[in-house]
Amino acid sequence: MSQWVGSMMSECYKCEYKSAKNKIFHERRLCEFCSYFAPDKKELFNIYVEEKTNWRDLQTYRKQGNLGGVKQKRGMVEKAKEGKVMSRAPFGYEIRKGKLFPAQNSEMVETIYEDFLATETSLNQLSKKYGISLNGLKKILMNFTYIGKIKFDGEVHEGKHNHLVSSTLFNHVQDKLEKMLRRRKINPKAHNNKN
Ligand SMILES: [Zn+2]
Repeated sequence: MSQWVGSMMSECYKCEYKSAKNKIFHERRLCEFCSYFAPDKKELFNIYVEEKTNWRDLQTYRKQGNLGGVKQKRGMVEKAKEGKVMSRAPFGYEIRKGKLFPAQNSEMVETIYEDFLATETSLNQLSKKYGISLNGLKKILMNFTYIGKIKFDGEVHEGKHNHLVSSTLFNHVQDKLEKMLRRRKINPKAHNNKN
């Protein structure tokens, strides 16, 4: 009997926790807990597993039993990085097989950014020029998807899709936008011809 149990259970290489759920990563068997925090890169992984921990010290965390939820969120974040949780592609992108790709009009984004920076044209005039609603235009000018980032669950992550504008251009546009919006607050008259 004890031998049968023994064959089902295995020991975590890092913390020696015995469980039937331990799985092999990079040829080392790890418990659910240690594997969750394990780095993906082999060299870092090796350093990580050689730093031994005592499973008893981890019990207090393990009891929370919350790793499933955390793991699920991590999975969602991974998907988000690939644009997979996006229901609608931002202007200039299209979704193919659940991933973000530059669309035919992708170069428009940079054009709009540069146009906004280079001229004293109002947002209103720009929106008419490009046939985009004022709100749509603002969204385009502030969307950091264009610099390769993805916002998910209130956090910003590095995405895996192509950039459509450089971070420098993006930052300059943010500065100008901020100044514009601040000016509106100070000068309510300018606010009136908004929308
Ligand atoms: Zn472990």
